Amino acid sequence: MKTEKKTGRHWVVRMNYFNRTVSWVFAFVLLGSHLVDRADGVMGWFWLVLQFLVYPHLVYLRTRLASDPLQAELQNLLLDSFLFGIWISALGFPLWISFPLVISTCINLSAFRGLRGLLQATAALAAGVLLTIPVTGWHFQPDTSLITSLLAIMSLSTYLTLFAFGAHKRTLKLHEVRLKLRQSEQALHKQIAEISFLQGQLTEQVNRDPLTGLFNRRYLDATLDREIARCEREQNPLCLMMVDIDHFKHINDTYGHQAGDAVLVQVAKTLSDELRAGDIACRYGGEEFLLLMPNLTPAVAMERAEELRKKQAASNILVSGQQMAVRLSIGLASLPSDALTAHALIRNADAALYQAKQQGRNRVVSFVQVTAT
Ligand code: GH3
Ligand code: MG
Ligand code: MG
Repeated sequence: MKTEKKTGRHWVVRMNYFNRTVSWVFAFVLLGSHLVDRADGVMGWFWLVLQFLVYPHLVYLRTRLASDPLQAELQNLLLDSFLFGIWISALGFPLWISFPLVISTCINLSAFRGLRGLLQATAALAAGVLLTIPVTGWHFQPDTSLITSLLAIMSLSTYLTLFAFGAHKRTLKLHEVRLKLRQSEQALHKQIAEISFLQGQLTEQVNRDPLTGLFNRRYLDATLDREIARCEREQNPLCLMMVDIDHFKHINDTYGHQAGDAVLVQVAKTLSDELRAGDIACRYGGEEFLLLMPNLTPAVAMERAEELRKKQAASNILVSGQQMAVRLSIGLASLPSDALTAHALIRNADAALYQAKQQGRNRVVSFVQVTAT
């Protein structure tokens, strides 16, 4: 893809080419009027045509071929000033010709380079004036005819008006660009918000069991070590309850798989209702759940497990018009009293649950009781 720089069509270059070509036709007419007044010979007209009608195209060509067109265009502006200095000096400083030439070149360079441009334009003008004096000699003829003076006023007025229009156009363009930039910034913010919302949703989906909405085993694996480390650091106990639905296979076999699913959802809800701040409930496998309860002593954990079991035992679950009695067996293990690692904590809670099943189900057994037997 061709860049602006490579093709030499930087917008400043294009704009200056247009401005120089058009406004210098006015300058040609102005200086031509003065040459007519002075009755200058062919050489004067030759230089006039070369300077004001041919030169704009030559410098444009040079700029287009330059490796850095913008830099080349700034050099052109300085060359303009220098050549204007020559014309002013060669013509004997005619007031109504010098003034438009000086002010226009100073405005041009100031617009592109600020104070530095103004100083450079002044220096280039002075250089043109001073270098011409030894060649053409010093002569001072400040007067111009009325027509030439009027032409000067008209030319300068036109130039300044066009300059103001150009500035206005650029301001509008800048405003438009800023507006577009703000719009795309807003669109970007909206997209980022949507992406982070979707990311949040995705993370939720990855960590949740789709049937019950509880956390899944993947989340538990990622969380358990962190919770253990935190409880150890704060020297607080951590309790793990392994909850299993009794004879769940029988529910499935009797009422169907969908009824079994509904029971899982209801039990998950009962567990969630029992949670306190900081507790974590997961679906560990088929009809097994794990409750992670930080800052809970084994004795209090036993009470809460018993409450949970009783609550479930006391309330039948209504599925498809059928009242079902659902019972829970719970195995308990605590850290640091029963285990020191995540693996040992789960294994010991599982051992306690096994004991609960062995002892007839619908009960709570802690690992301490397992080891005591
Ligand atoms: P116990 O009292 O010894 O725990 O007996 P149980 O019947 O509850 O346990 P068992 O391990 O024999 O059977 C568990 C059943 O749970 C078997 C399996 O088909 C069923 N199950 C596992 N996941 C799902 C599920 O997502 N939905 C349904 N409806 N059933 C499931
Ligand atoms: Mg079971
Ligand atoms: Mg089971």
